[in-house]
Amino acid sequence: MALLTANKVFQMNGVAVSEKIIPDGTRWKDGAKAQKAGFSAGSLYKKQQRLSGGTGKVQGVTIHNTADLANVHDDGEQYTRATYNENMGSVRVHYYVDDTGAWQNLKAGTGLCSNDPVGSAEVSWHAGDGSTPDGGNMTTISMEVIMGDTAAHDEKAKDNAARMAAWLLWKHGLTIDKLFSHTYWVNKSAGKHFADVDRQCTNPVRNQKWCPTYIFGSSNPDIALKNWKAFKQLVQGYMDALNGGAQAPTADAAGTLYRVQTGAFSSKANATAYAKKIKAAGFDTYVVKADGLYKVQVGAYSKKANAEAQMQKLTAAGFQAFITTKSGTPV
Ligand SMILES: [Zn+2]
Repeated sequence: MALLTANKVFQMNGVAVSEKIIPDGTRWKDGAKAQKAGFSAGSLYKKQQRLSGGTGKVQGVTIHNTADLANVHDDGEQYTRATYNENMGSVRVHYYVDDTGAWQNLKAGTGLCSNDPVGSAEVSWHAGDGSTPDGGNMTTISMEVIMGDTAAHDEKAKDNAARMAAWLLWKHGLTIDKLFSHTYWVNKSAGKHFADVDRQCTNPVRNQKWCPTYIFGSSNPDIALKNWKAFKQLVQGYMDALNGGAQAPTADAAGTLYRVQTGAFSSKANATAYAKKIKAAGFDTYVVKADGLYKVQVGAYSKKANAEAQMQKLTAAGFQAFITTKSGTPV
């Protein structure tokens, strides 16, 4: 069978994403397949509704996990093709991610391609919680992470997923606490609420989906918790890199960001000249305007320890620096 052709291939935080978004208005064609999946023939093939009560607001990213497809290079393409051929039952996800890249099946409001404008994030079917208004289906972006055929490819698939999850959380102004596992929603549906979000993400519910299985890496809940936390750490690292990059972060609603500031000037020219000097010393830097001053900052971090490490590097290079939670308008 012929491979699918993507509408567009673009980069998301270093991952090649093939855009194949199911067009609005697509309907089930095969009545028998529709019925088997719990739909009537001719009904809409996707929910076709924006997230969070129609607002398009993204409230999190949910991670799923499935095994490698034997003898298939681009697993994401195969799953996307199965979706287009009505062979995935009721499951619709935003992204199929593997070691080679990702395929996008639904709008996620990224603005990275013309079919996916900002604010357009739509509902997917993945969390097993139907149309519960505050459930995983109705509020989060879903990613199915397909493992590889070797340990190295497994790591690459996980890394691709972490890069994308980080970018999506960052883009939508969310913190790492909004990275959910499928099992988080299973617990919620079972009426279990843990104060610790990581427990909620990993606590096994008898006879229910235990997912992301391979990222959990063990049926022992303690080991799964450790591995889930390690995966989150990977995502957090990519989020910090995005927040600390040369571009000033704009998503202050995300929660407190610790910014490393190395100078403040009343003249824009002086601030820019100083920023150039910092850049020449090897630091990504940007200038923001706040309280009538042009402030030269070098990174913004959700973890204070990371900001402190960056501050020490600056000090060691001979520059004054301090940490502030104040931002400003990018210049
Ligand atoms: Zn799952």
